[in-house]
Amino acid sequence: LKQKDEYCVLILGLDNAGKTTYLEAAKTKFTKNYRGINPSKITTTVGLNIGQIDLSGIRLSFWDLGGQLELQSLWDKYYQESHGIIYVIDSNDRDRMEESKEVFDKMISNDHLSGVPLLVLANKQDLPDCMGVREIKPVFQHSGSHIGRRECLVMPVSALTKEGVDEGIRWLTESVK
Ligand code: GDP
Repeated sequence: LKQKDEYCVLILGLDNAGKTTYLEAAKTKFTKNYRGINPSKITTTVGLNIGQIDLSGIRLSFWDLGGQLELQSLWDKYYQESHGIIYVIDSNDRDRMEESKEVFDKMISNDHLSGVPLLVLANKQDLPDCMGVREIKPVFQHSGSHIGRRECLVMPVSALTKEGVDEGIRWLTESVK
């Protein structure tokens, strides 16, 4: 049974975007004595990873859903339960930016998610040739009508170096409350 101060957060995005690495980084940052999985040991998500973080008097329960095409149809079922969304983009993968945008569009226009706070992460900012937030924003811009009236933040992050990980989690904590 869910506690009343528990909030469910979906972590979505294409396979290889860095969802699992991000969740590990977040858990490492916010869990005492948690040393995490060595990033080299993390394999791409097939199915579901779950993690929990207790912060500012609430519990965030994360669902990291597999990004592969075959698994995207399962996302729907989790939408009804979610209080927040993290959408992870591989900023270094220009070839798949359009694909990521299409998946994003489909997700964001789902009625079950209307009004749910949205954190968009431009991940892999440690890589020298990656797209910056200013370049990524316009790609996702015309999804604006679906973003609608909700808390929304696009931020640069590196799940690998953990740069920007705290800020995102703190923002989400305040937004879901
Ligand atoms: P998922 O499929 O979305 O869960 O992606 P993973 O977390 O499994 O990451 C996919 C690959 O990208 C792995 O090789 C990660 O080490 C790598 N990766 C994830 N985040 C970053 C990052 O911020 N920077 C870099 N350079 N690599 C990353």
